[in-house]
Amino acid sequence: MFVNAGGGIVKEEANLSIRVQPDSFFQGGDALRTEETIIEGGNIPSLYQSARVGNFCYLFNNLSPGDYFVDLHFAEIININGPWGMRVFDVFMQEEKVLSKLDIYSIVGANKALQLADVRVSVGEEGTIIIRFEGVNGNPMVSGLCIKREARLPASQVKQGYVICNNCDAEIEISSAQNKYLRMMATVKYEKKIEELKTQCQLKTDECHEAWMSLTAASEQLEKVRMVLDNKFLQNLYLDQAMEKQAADLRDICSKYERDKRLWTAVLDNLEKKVMAMKKEHCQLSHEVHQCSDSIPELNKMVFAVQAMVAQCDDLKLKFSEEQAKRKMLYNQIQEAKGNIRVFCRCRPLRKEEISAGYPMVTDFDAAKDGELGIFAGGSTKKIFKFDRVYTPKDDQVDVFADASPMVVSVLDGYNVCIFAYGQTGTGKTFTMEGSEQNRGVNYRTLKQLFKIAEERKDTFTYSISVSVLEVYNEQIRDLLATSPTSKKLEIRQASEGVHHVPGIVEARVENIKEVWSVLQAGSNARAVGSNNVNEHSSRSHCMLCIMVSTKNLMNGECTKSKLWLVDLAGSERLAKTEVQGDRLKEAQNINRSLSALGDVISALASKSCHIPFRNSKLTHLLQDSLGGDSKTLMFVQISPSEQDLGETLSSLNFATRVRGVELGPARKQIDMGELQKLKMMLDKAKHELRSKEEALKKLEENLHNSEGRAKGKDQLCRSQQEKVSELEGRLASKTQFCRQLEKQLLELADGMKEKEEICFNLQQKVKELENKLKVQEHTKPMTLQHKVKELENILKDRTQQFEHHSAMLQQQVNELENKLTTEGRNQGFQMLQQKIKELEGQLKLQEQQESVLPVCCAEKLGVTPNQTKSRIRVQVLQEMDPQSMRNLNSMNQTINQESVLLKGTDSLHKIRRRRELQSTGTENNILLSTPVLNKRILSTESKNARPIDQSRALARLTRSTKSAATSHRILSSNKLYKDQVQGNKESNKSKIWLR
Ligand code: ADP
Ligand code: MG
Repeated sequence: MFVNAGGGIVKEEANLSIRVQPDSFFQGGDALRTEETIIEGGNIPSLYQSARVGNFCYLFNNLSPGDYFVDLHFAEIININGPWGMRVFDVFMQEEKVLSKLDIYSIVGANKALQLADVRVSVGEEGTIIIRFEGVNGNPMVSGLCIKREARLPASQVKQGYVICNNCDAEIEISSAQNKYLRMMATVKYEKKIEELKTQCQLKTDECHEAWMSLTAASEQLEKVRMVLDNKFLQNLYLDQAMEKQAADLRDICSKYERDKRLWTAVLDNLEKKVMAMKKEHCQLSHEVHQCSDSIPELNKMVFAVQAMVAQCDDLKLKFSEEQAKRKMLYNQIQEAKGNIRVFCRCRPLRKEEISAGYPMVTDFDAAKDGELGIFAGGSTKKIFKFDRVYTPKDDQVDVFADASPMVVSVLDGYNVCIFAYGQTGTGKTFTMEGSEQNRGVNYRTLKQLFKIAEERKDTFTYSISVSVLEVYNEQIRDLLATSPTSKKLEIRQASEGVHHVPGIVEARVENIKEVWSVLQAGSNARAVGSNNVNEHSSRSHCMLCIMVSTKNLMNGECTKSKLWLVDLAGSERLAKTEVQGDRLKEAQNINRSLSALGDVISALASKSCHIPFRNSKLTHLLQDSLGGDSKTLMFVQISPSEQDLGETLSSLNFATRVRGVELGPARKQIDMGELQKLKMMLDKAKHELRSKEEALKKLEENLHNSEGRAKGKDQLCRSQQEKVSELEGRLASKTQFCRQLEKQLLELADGMKEKEEICFNLQQKVKELENKLKVQEHTKPMTLQHKVKELENILKDRTQQFEHHSAMLQQQVNELENKLTTEGRNQGFQMLQQKIKELEGQLKLQEQQESVLPVCCAEKLGVTPNQTKSRIRVQVLQEMDPQSMRNLNSMNQTINQESVLLKGTDSLHKIRRRRELQSTGTENNILLSTPVLNKRILSTESKNARPIDQSRALARLTRSTKSAATSHRILSSNKLYKDQVQGNKESNKSKIWLR
């Protein structure tokens, strides 16, 4: 019987001989199933996938008595992850413990089959088998149970009452007694054996128990160790992770280090290069520093000079500002002298219509230059009006502005100025003030002049110029530069003592004349223009241009603010004539009122009244700070020449006369002209001084610049000179070497001279010997000797010619070298050398003189022509002058020596010579003939090389030789004399040798 504990029928075992039944025969417990795969489950692995668990037992009934074998099948399918000791239980069969403390997991692990096979169980008469499971730790669990009955021998094989012999297998029949006995014996034997086995079993059980216990302890220990190991493993794991992290970090650091290393090496290389460059720079700089320190004394001098100049400049500045103040004062005085209110009258030309209509002119400009204007006021009566200036219709805008421009200077000097044009509509007020683009008026020209003077004075002053354009219309102020019309009424406020302004008005800052023109245009465009029947374009408002100038004196920091008003007044024509009503009437009334207010203010100012009615009109109120006091006023009274406008003209002129008259007044009119003249003179002088001082200042500045430039130039010069010095040092070194070579050559020459002197001495002796011999042989072979002498003479001539040719060439070389030396050699060493050369020349000259005497004597004795002697002298001079031609000269010497040898050989020479002497003409002719030849040669040499010494020397020699040829005895005596002289002066070895 096979029971699947906790499960159903197992189908796989259909092929098997055993049928596995579903779970039954149990008491208590719970069924359990798992889908896990069971390892080593044999033929029926699904058996282990179910189990009965808990507190339970199996009871099998109705079994026939006998022995049975029981198999138990286990598998740990709950605690598959362990650990050991979770499930420990005992198994009892028929209340006999067959398994003690079974822990499946500890034996086979989880999901693995464990079988307890063939446990023999005896079933008695009661016919039951009880299999009980008892938990020691946790619940017991079983997957399958199998009960097999012990197999019996088949009946045929078992024979009652027979025993089978162990030896021969023969069946021996036994009796029942024996059988009983045998049985008893067997029983005893078996009982004994059972006892033994029991004791053995007990021992083994004890052993097993101990072993089990020790195993449990060991497993516990093992568990602990495993736990420790697990911990260690975990720790290791952590450590590994940390190590890996650290290794990664290390790698990072390594790579960073490598990168940094590369970077630093590059930086180091770069730095090294830089250091090298800096070292070079340092060297250069230190060099420059040295140079600078060398030039410091000079620089110091310059610094002192500059400081002196600065002091002078400061002084001049002070003086300049003093002069400026003086000038300003004087200028103002002049302006005041001219009158603080000036009235100019300008008459417009007749219009075309007026000309065509035939209106006559009522104006007379005969005395216009004196400021007088005549008006023919009906019939022949002529009224004379006097003004500061009268402009005829021919006078143009330039003329008009020329008189107004001094006012501009006053504005820049800090005075308020007011220029306005008064007159009937159509008389040219706007023309005078504004003008046209081609023919600009006072406004534009004034501003232009302002900018011009500001530019001229920019070194001493700074100016800031701003412009406002206003219109007074119907006693209301309008800002013509305002971009958007404002309802706010513009009012005049007093800012401070004597300064009035209109808050909220546009003040356009102008930097140049272009901006000015655009501002003026904007103002003029915005101007209110009305029309009436007098003139279509008549202006019915006062147009006021205000120029505000802020000045700062750069010398003393003084600041001033001044105003220049340029007012184009509204037409002054009388009310009745305009024939207007309503609004136009109001306009005209306002205009008339404001113009009379202007007249009143001026008159009050003149009479020094305590109350000046500035506030009677907006016009006078606005001009309050620019009328009276220090301020200047200029009025252009504009008139028409037409008879048609005579009434208005007279009215305007009367108004203007009143203005001018009251201002000048009787007291002013009596201004002492002498005083004025004096003031003018003073002004001129001041101006002159100012100009000269400005010039001096400019010169000083120029000097300063120049000296700075010079300092720089000197620096450069110094550098270039240093370079030149080093170059010259190089040249000097080479020249010194060259000089040394020359000295050496000279020494060699001196040696050569000594040798020659010795040869000469020998020759002299030989000549004497020969003379003696000749005397002896005089009478023996005269004819043959004569012949030989002739031959010798010819040879000598040839050689002389050759020699002279050589000498000319050498002379040329000498001269070239001399030239080189004189041009190149400017150093002392070279000059010294030249001096030495000259000294040597002098010495040689002396020797030559001696030599020239001796050879002539010899020649005389030998019958040799003076030419030959001269050539020898020349050779010596050449040797002296041209050390480079030493080799040539040596060869010459050899020739001469050869000649002397030849001469030695001629025994009858003296005899022949004597005969020739007797003939007298022959010798003398020879000498005379040779003179021009030599002369020529010398001259040619001189012309080539310009050596005057040679010529004189040669001439001296020539004369001497000629004389010697003519009178030998005299020369001999003079030679003696000379010898004595030289012996007295002998200093050099050469002369010593020569004299010997
Ligand atoms: P006002 O402003 O006094 O009403 P305008 O300046 O408008 O007078 O002058 C009226 C006209 O007369 C203009 O066409 C102007 O060109 C001309 N005019 C005025 N004065 C002169 C002058 N001196 N030379 C030439 N034309 C003039
Ligand atoms: Mg006008």
